[in-house]
Formats: sequence, structure tokens, C-alpha cells
Amino acid sequence: MALSSTRRVGACRSREAPQRAGDGAARPDWPGPVEAHGTGAGPRLYDRPVNYELFMGEALAEAQLAQDEGEPPCAAVAVVDEAMVARARDRVRETGDPTAHAVMGAIREAARRLGRERLADVTIFTTIEPCPMCVGALLQADIETLVFAAPDLANGAAGGAVQLAQSAGLPRRLRVVSGIRREEVEELRSRVVVRATSNGRPTAS
Ligand SMILES: [Zn+2]
Repeated sequence: MALSSTRRVGACRSREAPQRAGDGAARPDWPGPVEAHGTGAGPRLYDRPVNYELFMGEALAEAQLAQDEGEPPCAAVAVVDEAMVARARDRVRETGDPTAHAVMGAIREAARRLGRERLADVTIFTTIEPCPMCVGALLQADIETLVFAAPDLANGAAGGAVQLAQSAGLPRRLRVVSGIRREEVEELRSRVVVRATSNGRPTAS
């Protein structure tokens, strides 16, 4: 990826002092935290610039793996202070666990690696707008910011189908950034449709 071509498209406010994850040596497939570059101005404690496109690119790569495995092209990464601390993809078909969604996996992995259940300083990047279960988990984890690429008008709970992420009836709300690298995710989705029509049954939903 040409880091110089990435652009800064917004800013994230961090409520807590930033924390770094470990070196990732415990997991052989874990490449270690990915540092964001090309963010222009130097880091500030608050109103910190976030390289949305870089981290969405990590989610996109994971989504491609999910699709290769016959899962929906849905993947998520968790980022703290410009470092990626977790990555996950849908594993429902692989595990037979209906809750094995990408966002759930990223939340669980981030909490495990950070050693705490409150994740206010974590930003979740996901390729597809999360479902009500996943938005509920984001709210329960006290996560402040959700970034997604493509809306899900059938199941999305950040305004696509229902609005749970910013409900006035709940004690917490998510800051939502959408549309980051949407075209690439839509392209992945379209490949699922083409494959489904070519062999008569869908390979992902
Ligand atoms: Zn979900």
C-alpha cells in the first residue's frame, strides 16, 4: 500500500490516555501493531488524527480471507492510538457459532489483549455496517467510535435497517464514520452475488 497516497478524512477524540498493545508474539499469525503514517500533523492527545483508509485497508484484507473461506466479506480491526490491537473476520460457518461475527471477534480479542473490559479508547473499523448484536456489544464495551465502509440495509444497526448506535433511549451512543473505502467493499460483495448466480447457491450472505 502506498502510504503517501492515504488521506486523512477525519479525527478521533480519545477520552483516555492512549495505551499500546503488546508485541503480539503470542500469536504466530499476528504481525504486531500497525502504525499509521502519512497523517500530516503530529499526534495530539485529543482530537487525534486517524488514518481511516489505512486501517480500513487492513479490514478489507481480512474480509477477502473471509470470502475465500465462504463466509460473508465481513471483517473488523480494533485500533488504539494508531496501533492495531485486534483483527477478526466472520467465522459463523466455520465454527457453527451464530455469534461469531467479525465485530464480536475484534471486541473479544481487543479486550483480551488489552486486559480490560472497558474499551472507550478503541475504534472499530469494519467492512460492513454491524448488526444489532454487534452494535449492542460495541455499546456494552463502552467503545466510542465505529467506522464502517458499506451500509447494510437489511441488518445494519447504525442507521441502515435500524438505528441502535445512536438511540436516544440508550445510555451510550457511538460516534459513527461511514463510507470509508466503500467502493472496494461493494466490489467484494458483488463478487459474492456473481458466484452465487453462477453455481445456483450463495457462498456468503
Ligand atoms: Zn454482527
